Amino acid sequence: MDINFDNLINLQKLDEEIKNISLNLEKIPSEIEEIDKKIEESARILSQTKEKLNHNQKKRRELEAEIQDFKEKTLKYKRQLNEVKTNKEYSFLLKEIEEAQKKFDELEEQIISEMLLADDIEEEIKVISQNTITTKEKFSQKKDTLYKKKGETEEEKKKLSQKKDELTLKIPAYQINLYKKIFRGKNGIALSPVRDEFCSICHMRIRPQMLNELRTENNIHLCENCGRILYLPKKNN
Ligand SMILES: [Zn+2]
Repeated sequence: MDINFDNLINLQKLDEEIKNISLNLEKIPSEIEEIDKKIEESARILSQTKEKLNHNQKKRRELEAEIQDFKEKTLKYKRQLNEVKTNKEYSFLLKEIEEAQKKFDELEEQIISEMLLADDIEEEIKVISQNTITTKEKFSQKKDTLYKKKGETEEEKKKLSQKKDELTLKIPAYQINLYKKIFRGKNGIALSPVRDEFCSICHMRIRPQMLNELRTENNIHLCENCGRILYLPKKNN
């Protein structure tokens, strides 16, 4: 039942490193997704603003067509003024002309305000376009960095896994099996160093007899409370 604690301790360290690296790797896709969303959002705002300008231009065309109608109507009424026979008809036409003129003025005001609005929107589009370009550049760089990090992390993980495989070969199967069983059941921590007579993970005091055995025997002792493999750390551990 001889046990080489150095190997098991190193195995535990490797497993922790692999766990941390895996957690980092898992985060990367969602970070990339976040960036894509921001790029999309920026493009969406630009297209919305362009849509606003289209709408403005369409409205202006409609207003201009409407104003043209009133122009023609007014001209028609004015021509008719020369041909009327009665005062009643005459004052009716004058009233119509006045109404048409009023409407004409209103429409012209609307066109002016739409034109001013168009200026604002065009300015807005200019700013947003520039922002979109900057955003895209910035986030593309961020994305590249993330992809690079992903590649490097995967490479690192591969190396650690190889190291783990090599180390595992040096450890007797029953020890590996026990280690794995505890590792799975105890949240990835299978070993616990004894410090000042306590299990350093669950802080249970170790019985003097077991402490003695740990000092003198080179075999497996499990913490009676948390079930982890106990060991006495060397000075530099
Ligand atoms: Zn314990």
